Amino acid sequence: MQEAPVEFHRPAVRNNPQRWRVADVAALFELPFNELLFRAQTVHREHFDPSQVQLSSLLSIKTGGCPEDCGYCPQSVHFDTGVEASALMPIDAVLDAARRAKEAGATRFCMGAAWRGPKDRDIEKVAALISGVKSLGMEACATLGMLGEGHAEQLRDAGLDYYNHNIDSAPDKYADIITTRHFEDRLDTLDKVRSAGVKVCCGGIVGMGESREQRAALIATLANMDPYPESVPINHLVPVEGTPLASQEALDPFEFVRTIAAARITMPQTMVRLSAGRQQLGEAVQALCFLAGANSMFYGDKLLTTGNPDVQADQSLMAKLGMRAA
Ligand code: SF4
Repeated sequence: MQEAPVEFHRPAVRNNPQRWRVADVAALFELPFNELLFRAQTVHREHFDPSQVQLSSLLSIKTGGCPEDCGYCPQSVHFDTGVEASALMPIDAVLDAARRAKEAGATRFCMGAAWRGPKDRDIEKVAALISGVKSLGMEACATLGMLGEGHAEQLRDAGLDYYNHNIDSAPDKYADIITTRHFEDRLDTLDKVRSAGVKVCCGGIVGMGESREQRAALIATLANMDPYPESVPINHLVPVEGTPLASQEALDPFEFVRTIAAARITMPQTMVRLSAGRQQLGEAVQALCFLAGANSMFYGDKLLTTGNPDVQADQSLMAKLGMRAA
């Protein structure tokens, strides 16, 4: 099956000469399930210990009131979801949460703020949070929205290891989900992060009504970044009452596992992270995801605003599977 390659218009994160065409990734999705998992697990073992999982903990440091209209997000001011807007958390409260996450086994602490993008004064405050997290001996990650000139460098100088900025979905699905910014805006911020020498955490959400080909295009877009992201969170939509995607029909869990496998095969050395939606997946599907090459997960009671399996449940799952924290 031949198909025109995905087009990229800008350098840095987007001009790799098409290592993966969408058709190539779609062909992976079409493989018999066991064949796909075998291939993914084979690639996984070439680069990672298959029994290790990296644990990241995520804290919403500034919740709600976001002017963007991401159709999946309860923090948008455009939707009535009952999420109260709050100001940026004080540094002591953030560092207490980081300490607790570390004691529970997390090695990376991710801080999320519901901004379209931070202002200069916000960057100074977040830089102080990053320095504090680093002083605890943890990796620091931030997700703050679109970055302005010089922001990525300031965050880097504070010690930021990763910046998370997801492309959310396939380029041709993007406008169905978000209208207040464009796919290219995401790539602009990713360029800034790369140029500053900060590692990139970038993934997407599946189960938003996209087609299989669009899931393949999401993975191909990530895999064709040059270099591809060091960390790829794959989220399963958590439909939230009040958002436009509240009634979205659930994705077949095997399709989610296939997406994980395609990410592993096309980005052999990245950390593939199970993110939102693990509660809905249940233990058996999560085990299949690990077999398909997932080797990282968000850990803790809560993601930004949606639930997450609690720490004890995660530790119990890891024990059942004989997996250990990396
Ligand atoms: S996903 Fe982020 S940018 Fe979009 S509405 Fe939610 S908080 Fe705002």
